[in-house]
Amino acid sequence: MIIILTIRLAWLWLGLASAPSHPRVRSPGGWPGALLAIAIAANTGCVLRPFNSSGSGRLVVVTTFVPITNFTQAVAGDRAEVTQLLPDNVGPHDYQARPEDAGKLARADVLVKNGLGLEDFLADLVENAGRPDLKIIDSSQGVPIGLGTPAAAEPGASPQPSPQHQNDQHRGQPNPHIYLDPKRAILQVATIRDGLIAADPSGKALYQANAAAYIAQLRQLDRQITAQLRPFAGKTFVTYHDFAGYFAQSYQLKTQFLVDIPEQNPAPGDIQRVIRAVRQSDLKTLLSEPQAATGQFAALAKDLNIQVSRFDSLETGGPEASQPAYYLGVMAANVNHLVKAFSASASQIKGTLSPWPICGVPTPRSPLRSPGRSPVLPLVGRCAEGQAG
Ligand SMILES: [Zn+2]
Repeated sequence: MIIILTIRLAWLWLGLASAPSHPRVRSPGGWPGALLAIAIAANTGCVLRPFNSSGSGRLVVVTTFVPITNFTQAVAGDRAEVTQLLPDNVGPHDYQARPEDAGKLARADVLVKNGLGLEDFLADLVENAGRPDLKIIDSSQGVPIGLGTPAAAEPGASPQPSPQHQNDQHRGQPNPHIYLDPKRAILQVATIRDGLIAADPSGKALYQANAAAYIAQLRQLDRQITAQLRPFAGKTFVTYHDFAGYFAQSYQLKTQFLVDIPEQNPAPGDIQRVIRAVRQSDLKTLLSEPQAATGQFAALAKDLNIQVSRFDSLETGGPEASQPAYYLGVMAANVNHLVKAFSASASQIKGTLSPWPICGVPTPRSPLRSPGRSPVLPLVGRCAEGQAG
């Protein structure tokens, strides 16, 4: 025990003495923090493991955003301390790193990310954290990213991706939203399991058991979704930003979107593309999402005299979103909304209450009706007609 403690103290000393390992951001607490860690270790007499944890003896794992947190928490259980990098209700498209975030990485053993360029901010953050030794699990490794477009080859189908997609932040990268397809999510969970085992081999049995249990739940979710959506094979749905391609492919659906990323303003071509999709597919519902600038989407739905429902891309969430069951619940709700959207007829939706108010939107500011721009469509559909709001 004394030998191990001596090695640990020497390791801490070398880490502190090595200036380049903390070039820009001080580790949390700096010297006092390190001394506190030494004091805790000495006073508790705990069995020190080769982890960067501050005395708990548990593997310290940082995840990037909601689904990655869900998957990692499911595999790690109580064996690891899992912390999400992104704050509540901030998604990876609009995340701005804060100094304390580098601090989270500075004390982590493992970082788990979605990959495929969705977390481009990590390169600078890891460098700032001074942790070249940080183990990084890229959960997209081995996940099929081919978005074959058999549906798009059909007559009347809209091409994808849109021309604007070439200019978005996914440029040069495949679409990163693999986690929204439960079949691909299963592969991500398996990769996270293997990465945690590599970082903490003595936890192998637990990680394997936890992953198997969660994968069984994901398979059940996949079967449920398959059964629910089978009657709608070939149908199109429209989301706010470009996240549903893998999900649609997995369940023989087609998808369109208004913008590439949530913060983007739609170009006139985007609006026309959605209008074409709605008319060709006789859609009665657009599917918005929590972080979307819903005003423009709502105004478009109002002009088309259709409803707005919700498909949560799981990029943001509150404190309740950290647990493994969150992914399962949100995906089940998404599919229920989708089934209602596909099932809706004009008469059925008349007078129903949308989960997203589509009236009361400050439509004069909408690009559809802003001064100097002609409305794309005649204005139809009013709150007074009893749609929602
Ligand atoms: Zn996205």
